[in-house]
Amino acid sequence: MAKEDGIIIAGGGPVGLIVGLILGRAGVEVTLFDKGDILHQQPRAATIHPASLDILDDLGVYERIEPLGLVCPIVNYYDQQELLASFDHAVLAGETRHPWVLQCEQDKLSRVLFAMASGLPTLKIETETEVLDCSQSADAVEVEVKHADGSRDRLKGRYLIGADGARSTVRSKADIAFEGFTYGERFMIIGTPYDFSQAGYAYRNYISDPVEWYNLFKISWQGPPGVYRLVVPVSLDEALAEDRILETCQRKFQRFHPRSEPYDIVLYDSYVVHQRVAATFRKGRIILTGDAAHLNSPIGAMGMNSGIHDAVNLAANLLRVLRGAENEGALDRYVRQRRHVAVEHVQAATIANKKNMEQRDRATRREYRKEMQRAANDPVLAKKFLLRTSLIECLRDAEKIA
Ligand SMILES: Cc1cc2nc3c(=O)[nH]c(=O)nc-3n(C[C@H](O)[C@H](O)[C@H](O)COP(=O)(O)OP(=O)(O)OC[C@H]3O[C@@H](n4cnc5c(N)ncnc54)[C@H](O)[C@@H]3O)c2cc1C
Repeated sequence: MAKEDGIIIAGGGPVGLIVGLILGRAGVEVTLFDKGDILHQQPRAATIHPASLDILDDLGVYERIEPLGLVCPIVNYYDQQELLASFDHAVLAGETRHPWVLQCEQDKLSRVLFAMASGLPTLKIETETEVLDCSQSADAVEVEVKHADGSRDRLKGRYLIGADGARSTVRSKADIAFEGFTYGERFMIIGTPYDFSQAGYAYRNYISDPVEWYNLFKISWQGPPGVYRLVVPVSLDEALAEDRILETCQRKFQRFHPRSEPYDIVLYDSYVVHQRVAATFRKGRIILTGDAAHLNSPIGAMGMNSGIHDAVNLAANLLRVLRGAENEGALDRYVRQRRHVAVEHVQAATIANKKNMEQRDRATRREYRKEMQRAANDPVLAKKFLLRTSLIECLRDAEKIA
């Protein structure tokens, strides 16, 4: 168990593991709890943007995940079948050490982080242990946990970090509102080994369509040759009709790219999608980060990426407080910087991305088409576009906030 002045982390997803890794490497006593086993997380996120690759490189993580993923310099935007714009991240050379996107699923990233974090003497990771409750006084936090065998423990620490994802227990026990909205439809992810490069698709494609939009991405999955994942909206009724789910998947793929043969469907899942930000990321000694603090639609691939940015910002500021280099104002700076990014960049961009994907108004679609074509055909605008979508701009913007 943690020393009474140690740090407690709830949640060993990519975000909690990064905070734990940085603090553990700095010699801070940390106890991290995850209610699962960390080794078998869901492969939700796959796109890791350049800004995050630089961070993961600084942590020594990049070299371990690159062989597990696909290096993707190109991203394409379509309006239905028509290629509107193609961007090459190579224009970001000089702005990042990684002018490409790495398609690497988040369960692979978590396993790598878990392996790296597990060897640290001051970081204790307790899997299959759920944080049930938390409270705080002026100088300590206390959590109640339940182990896999049903036994319970209480322990104290100096700060509690809630990195326990979308349904954060820490957020709800700390009574922090989760402001925003939830979309009426679900997003479905369907995977097939069919090789869409035959049809001219790159590894990353956004396809706007007023009837049914799509995102098509390649992931390495269980190794070469990998699979293409189609993200597509699905009604609640369709998503819940489990007996017809494969039929639904087939219909979605056939509408997207009709073929005489059925698609081989190797994976499918569907998700409720929220656009929400916690009213505050800090209440005294309890601090939220990653999905526990903010949720957004996956169009634009910003959730885990911005969570990684939260994690390094929080760890750096917390270290300054623990070392006495700064007072707790450093934690408020974390909140100001990262909440600003969550609201002004991530929420704004992902809400706009969905609107662009599904736009039905002809005049607005025409405007979007023109804007994308202009950006792709002008190197200055193309770079500006990619600085924004690859989350470099929002990191720089956050640094300006004192
Ligand atoms: C379909 C889909 C595709 C996506 N694609 C992308 C993408 O390409 N790029 C991107 O940046 N983002 C993407 N995202 C978002 C991304 O998945 C999340 O932002 C990311 O998982 C956040 O990481 P996290 O560590 O904060 O939370 P999580 O990954 O949810 O981890 C939380 C951890 O906390 C544990 N936990 C939960 N409750 C407790 C408790 N009470 N006690 C102890 N442990 C607990 C869980 O077991 C889990 O391990 C996608 C999301 C979806 C749904």
